[in-house]
Amino acid sequence: MIIGIPKGLLYYKYYPFFESFFKALDCKLIISNDTNKKILNLGIKYCVDEACLPIKVFHGHVAEIKDNCDFILIPRIMSIHEGEYICPKFCGLPEMIFNDIPNMPNMLSAPIYATSKNNLYKWAIKTGSVITNNRFRIKKAFLAALNEQKKFPCGIKNNSYPLRIALVGHPYNVYDSFVNMNLVKKLNSLGVGIITEEFVPSKYIDKEIKILFKKPFWSFARQSYGSSVYLAHAKTIDGIIYLSSFACGIDSIVVELIKEHIYDTPMLVLKIDEQTGEAGFNTRIEAFVDMLERRTQHENNLSSFGEYLLSKQSTV
Ligand code: SF4
Repeated sequence: MIIGIPKGLLYYKYYPFFESFFKALDCKLIISNDTNKKILNLGIKYCVDEACLPIKVFHGHVAEIKDNCDFILIPRIMSIHEGEYICPKFCGLPEMIFNDIPNMPNMLSAPIYATSKNNLYKWAIKTGSVITNNRFRIKKAFLAALNEQKKFPCGIKNNSYPLRIALVGHPYNVYDSFVNMNLVKKLNSLGVGIITEEFVPSKYIDKEIKILFKKPFWSFARQSYGSSVYLAHAKTIDGIIYLSSFACGIDSIVVELIKEHIYDTPMLVLKIDEQTGEAGFNTRIEAFVDMLERRTQHENNLSSFGEYLLSKQSTV
């Protein structure tokens, strides 16, 4: 059996789990290419105009591989954290894809509640039953997939640059270098290191969340807000870059929440959609980095991370 896996949305975070699950059930996998212009154009062609860029890009990945597989995985990810949900667009993604793209193959779209091992196992049983009736094989594949996921080091943490910023945003914006126009490389070449939310322990994120009037309902909001505010308060960063998708309701709230709670930590919000031009994008990044350099060199605004690096240099 050939299973198609589109390389979009939370593929970037959970691909070891999905790939090893299907491989352990002896399926052949077809994975779409890295995002490129052709995939983006396919996404724009099939998806409704009002959707955010990541959903359009996901449409493009599906359209690229749909004719070459028996089943295609459209993960209906509902919840990854107890009491919180993923964006509503994830919940209705299979219906959206089915109605937007003609001649779709059969879809694997059982809801995913990854709030506990038992809940996630329910997805494995539903999905695995399409492939085999052997429950023992499904359980073995599920445990192997969990194991693979645990070994996967997700996140970016650079330690050897004069400046460091928190790069905040949805994983499919942060880790898709076509969508973010090679932002990580660009920042590194300007002497800016990066830290992402995966390197902030949950206990610190939870602590920051507690001071909010209302607990965020969306997991993305909890992660982005908690990690950036923690890093700003701990003074381990010189600034924050928030990669935001145009038309994302969650981003529009989280950006404002972060701004309110980071005091004087500089923050740049980069909005991306299919119209974003690279020249304007680069100019904004360079101007932001110039400003960070001025703050550290002339205004004595070194983060403790910067001070730590300087002290290391003076002892060499
Ligand atoms: S969280 Fe925002 S960017 Fe992500 S799918 Fe939902 S609306 Fe789009």
